[in-house]
Amino acid sequence: MEQNRPEPMKISFDFDNTLDNPKMQRMAKKFMNMGAKVFITTSRSQQQGTVRLPNHDLFRTAKMLDIPKKRIRFTNGEPKVLFLEGFDLHFDDMYGEIQDINRYSRTCQGVLFTPHNIRKRL
Ligand SMILES: [Mg+2]
Repeated sequence: MEQNRPEPMKISFDFDNTLDNPKMQRMAKKFMNMGAKVFITTSRSQQQGTVRLPNHDLFRTAKMLDIPKKRIRFTNGEPKVLFLEGFDLHFDDMYGEIQDINRYSRTCQGVLFTPHNIRKRL
């Protein structure tokens, strides 16, 4: 019999100073273990002119966390809110991105991550 299951949550993480942090990596794994779909949304570019940028650190982390390549999005400096329609949460260390998301996204809640403050407090 068809069950009325809710859509899995779509959770997005920035990479630099967010998902490169072990604390956020543990959180991403928790979300995945709860059945959420985890994505990376980075301002980085995949290409500079005709040259493909390797982004080795990003792909290595994604592989370690079992985030498939199709769930990695490069915004190439474009505001992330444009890439987050239909998402539930996005974590980022850039206040401007979070502000845009919380002002303009109909679905997504932005959450500011402040790695340095957290480290200092521990
Ligand atoms: Mg960042």
